[in-house]
Amino acid sequence: MDIIEKAPAKINLSLDTPFRHLDGDLEWRMVMVAVDLADYVQVSSDDRFTGIKLETDMGFLPQDYHNLAYQAAKKMQQLFAGHQGVQIQIQKKIPVAAGMGGGSADAAAVLRALNKLWKLKLNRAQLAEIGLQIDSDVPFCVYSEPALVTGKGEKVVPLGELPVMWIILAKPKASVSTPTILKKISYAQLAHQDVGQVAEAVRRKDEELLFHTMGNTLEEITGTVFPEVKKLKNKMLEFGADVAQMTGSGPTVFGLCSKYSRAQHVYNSLKGFCEEVYLVRPCKLLSENVSS
Ligand code: ATP
Repeated sequence: MDIIEKAPAKINLSLDTPFRHLDGDLEWRMVMVAVDLADYVQVSSDDRFTGIKLETDMGFLPQDYHNLAYQAAKKMQQLFAGHQGVQIQIQKKIPVAAGMGGGSADAAAVLRALNKLWKLKLNRAQLAEIGLQIDSDVPFCVYSEPALVTGKGEKVVPLGELPVMWIILAKPKASVSTPTILKKISYAQLAHQDVGQVAEAVRRKDEELLFHTMGNTLEEITGTVFPEVKKLKNKMLEFGADVAQMTGSGPTVFGLCSKYSRAQHVYNSLKGFCEEVYLVRPCKLLSENVSS
């Protein structure tokens, strides 16, 4: 039997890192949202083959242990099914190394798929705990719904649906290595964000408060290395986005619009400046895909 899981991209409405743990990991405070730009991950499992086989339609991506989806299958195999092989096929739609968590989304999709295929009945918190061993964004991607994410990424508190809005995503040509950006953080100089207020704005569906409190503490760092980030953000605002900011460690910039006609205008205008532009909605909640 095969399962096809949708693996949605994420954006960060708010992102801050208050400190670095003694083991070198970062403490995060983020408000994250899944959007309707998704990879499709097909997973099957049987005992005629005991290994893990992964294929993607993007030739340059790793198809071995370096692929986060492969790592997810390996963890699940070690924990629950010594002799069951896993075959994975990934149809990529999420731009790579863009700050949209594509690798983490694929890994979370494999966790959800194997949970169903092997009838494990793990709840989302249990899948998120396994996911944290792969990458700090995987726990959120297990939920893929608006959430406040803290700790090393493992504390995920759902916030409910966003107010109605459209999202324009623009990915400049540059690909950003997250570890390289994180190494540049100087805690003494970071402009911290009020992430709690952004979470509260989502909880209350208070669009005005949301637009006024959003922010990404990494934007200044990535924007200094890649000036296209600042340029794209300014263009988005100039074309009429209610608010614009970078997602994750970049370089993708997103704009939010509460009106569809305005979002379409921003989308069409940006296409002259940037090759990769998408007009999407926040994802519908995925909760029904997992056992709790
Ligand atoms: P993050 O901020 O978590 O690094 P990102 O969206 O910026 O996320 P990804 O698209 O996940 O970046 O890719 C980052 C790196 O992860 C790439 O260099 C890529 O080779 C590697 N990678 C591993 N598995 C995957 C996957 N399934 N899809 C995309 N990239 C993957």
